[in-house]
Amino acid sequence: MKPVGTLLLYSANGLYCPAGDFSIDPSRKCPVALISHAHGDHALPGHGLVYATRPTWNLMKSRFKEKLTADFREVEFGRPFFVGGISVTYFPAGHILGSAQILMVHEGQRYLYTGDFKVQHDPTCEPYHSVPCDHLITETTFAHPDFSHPDPLDELRELCEYDHQLVIGAYAVGKAQRITRLLHEMAPHRRVMVHPIISDYHKVYEDAGVNLGDWWPYSRKEFLQDPANILIVPPSVFSRFDRHDRALKVFATGWKRSYYRCDRVLSISDHADWNDLIKVIADCGAKTIFTLHGDGTSLKSHYQLEGPHVELLHV
Ligand SMILES: [Zn+2]
Ligand SMILES: [Zn+2]
Repeated sequence: MKPVGTLLLYSANGLYCPAGDFSIDPSRKCPVALISHAHGDHALPGHGLVYATRPTWNLMKSRFKEKLTADFREVEFGRPFFVGGISVTYFPAGHILGSAQILMVHEGQRYLYTGDFKVQHDPTCEPYHSVPCDHLITETTFAHPDFSHPDPLDELRELCEYDHQLVIGAYAVGKAQRITRLLHEMAPHRRVMVHPIISDYHKVYEDAGVNLGDWWPYSRKEFLQDPANILIVPPSVFSRFDRHDRALKVFATGWKRSYYRCDRVLSISDHADWNDLIKVIADCGAKTIFTLHGDGTSLKSHYQLEGPHVELLHV
């Protein structure tokens, strides 16, 4: 176990706070879990008590169904509460609907866990909120100067110039909803169809008041009828759509290459790129940075001579 300041401990199971006896995004079942957002590497079923925002909980319910047996405490953004005597406040992380950064205050020190976050504009989730802190525990998914995410509208505009069907592979929670909305904004004449695994999450977004624009449930027959049609499918079934021979197959990711076989990559990310991360670090004023998820070595060398002290937690 590695200490994270004097408040938290880091292990392979995630972050644990001994003083408050709670875990943050734990990868194992535990009695009290603070969940930042509904993605599978952060939110699992089987905990005793879960603190999360309402949209996060609803997305978890949609994913885990009857496996989700935990008691739920709804957290509102910006409203402090206590867990085991530790003051905790959730702030929007701008990553997906309901995603939160978690601020903990202990002995006058402010610890901010970013969860996954992005600063880039996204009309399908609450916008990222800048939070001052002393210790920042941040994800480093794209923490390398080579990563600079383009404007997703430009990326989609270029794709839509192709005059045949498009099959877009995208993560079912967050990415698929963002793409649906962006397509509605920039190509309203093209019909967007959605695979059933994704449409359940679309409904959670719409129930929360998010406008995704028009979309239709997938039907193979209808999809093939019009070359202007676009289909969004989750990664788990993306490879099955090879049979749509004439359709252009693209995979939505922030990485330069797709893990899944495709004609090309649609560059769109729900994580901060290098410049955004550097700006967030400067704005929050943290003296210490702890890195999680991804590789923190570029960040460490960036601040070697001056700036905050960087510690890599996961090596
Ligand atoms: Zn995530
Ligand atoms: Zn993640």
